[in-house]
Amino acid sequence: MRKYCKNCGQKFYPKGWTGYPQTEYAYDFESGTHERAEVLPEQKHFHSLSCMKEWIAKNIEAVDLFLTTMGNDDNNIETNNHN
Ligand SMILES: [Zn+2]
Repeated sequence: MRKYCKNCGQKFYPKGWTGYPQTEYAYDFESGTHERAEVLPEQKHFHSLSCMKEWIAKNIEAVDLFLTTMGNDDNNIETNNHN
């Protein structure tokens, strides 16, 4: 699979460890377990972390609207994992 970075247009191959966002393992302090937040290759849109950060900044109005609408501004990952 080949994709082009949404920020800079560079070609990258999202299978494996290339591309962002990446699958993350979030530690849950209450249960002492790690929760896997899976990101599929086709869901990666940036070739580097800095490109993802740049793009978010450039599109902050849309990103801000999205994040505000999620109603999850208390650092709580529950709404993400139990939707
Ligand atoms: Zn890029």
